[in-house]
Amino acid sequence: MITMKNLAEQLERRRQDSLYRVRAVLDGPQGPEVSVNGNSLLSFCSNDYLGLADHPDIIDAFHRGLDRYGAGSGASHLVTGHSRAHHELEAALAEFVQRPRALLFSTGYMANLGVMSALLGRGDRIFEDRLNHASLLDGARLSDARLQRYAHADVPALDAALASAPPGEYLVATDGVFSMDGDVAPLAELSASAASHAAWFMVDDAHGLGVLGPGGRGSVAAAGLDLQAVPVLVGTLGKAFGTFGAFVAGSEELIETLIQAARTYIYTTALPPAVAVATRTALQHVRDDEWRRDRLAVLVARFRAGAAQLGLQLADTATPIQPLLVGKARDALALSEALRAQGILVTAIRPPTVPEGTARLRITFSAAHTEAQVDRLLDALEKSFATEITEK
Ligand SMILES: *Cc1c(COP(=O)(O)O)cnc(C)c1O
Repeated sequence: MITMKNLAEQLERRRQDSLYRVRAVLDGPQGPEVSVNGNSLLSFCSNDYLGLADHPDIIDAFHRGLDRYGAGSGASHLVTGHSRAHHELEAALAEFVQRPRALLFSTGYMANLGVMSALLGRGDRIFEDRLNHASLLDGARLSDARLQRYAHADVPALDAALASAPPGEYLVATDGVFSMDGDVAPLAELSASAASHAAWFMVDDAHGLGVLGPGGRGSVAAAGLDLQAVPVLVGTLGKAFGTFGAFVAGSEELIETLIQAARTYIYTTALPPAVAVATRTALQHVRDDEWRRDRLAVLVARFRAGAAQLGLQLADTATPIQPLLVGKARDALALSEALRAQGILVTAIRPPTVPEGTARLRITFSAAHTEAQVDRLLDALEKSFATEITEK
């Protein structure tokens, strides 16, 4: 809680608690190596999993989009901001995730808020995994529905909560791949539980789309779940797709309902059309470049084997999100700084992004990394952990 008086004091307390956040300023594109204050750092903390954020084809498409549509959309989708580029991207995304329709939102955060506040209201209930992304929790708040959180990936707990809930509309929402933990939700079981209690089931696949499943169609496709099993699918475009934006995919009726009722869709400016043009090209790479997913798997396996040799405790997951649990915020920050001193950028993830006592280094991989770079990371981790331990 922040009080109006003494902001400076409160900021100072944050600093003393190792919870103060500062932004690294990048002087060039996203990629395995980034330029920060004139220093080149080897980065393992972006969400650019397929290495598309700086892809020449996508940049070319962006330029073409700018030439055709100009810089900004100039209006919301329902006024005059909805371009042919947006329209075609929606159709391509729907086809990609094998759903009847898709609707573009400016961000994943807004997509989640929009869906929840459009579909639910006072007297309804939203059931969420404890480790869901902040935007899903905030969506529940904005909707005025009652939020009930169940223990992480605990299907029996969800089942019990649904069984004892009073009448009303229900929605179960989960990350497909948990953003800070990298594990995949038990989607088939969650879907069955939601269905047996006549609840909506919503999967936010921000970190699975492009990375998991056949053709990169995500965690939902990997679990073999169709429209009926997952009526609300959210995907983001700023991660594996390398551009920006998000979408909701579902039935014709769901999408029309969102167009009429999702406030974060209606009352905001449409994405620049050039982003939509670029994202169509990104989608082709996501779909066709199977080798990027293969590369990721090789890099992640190499990292996990190396980390095991060093005795580092990793979560049991093969996704490109490989968190190294540290515990105290101060220790996570010290490790991050020790890595930085060796030219490696891995940000410390601290509360409230993760629960108290579970601060971590969230290490992520991109298809653009090389094996030699993974080895450099392992080397630096070994040195950083050694220093940390001898200093204690
Ligand atoms: C990143 C993320 C979002 C937000 O998407 P943006 O497009 O960045 O706003 C939503 N959900 C999850 C699980 C995420 O990781």
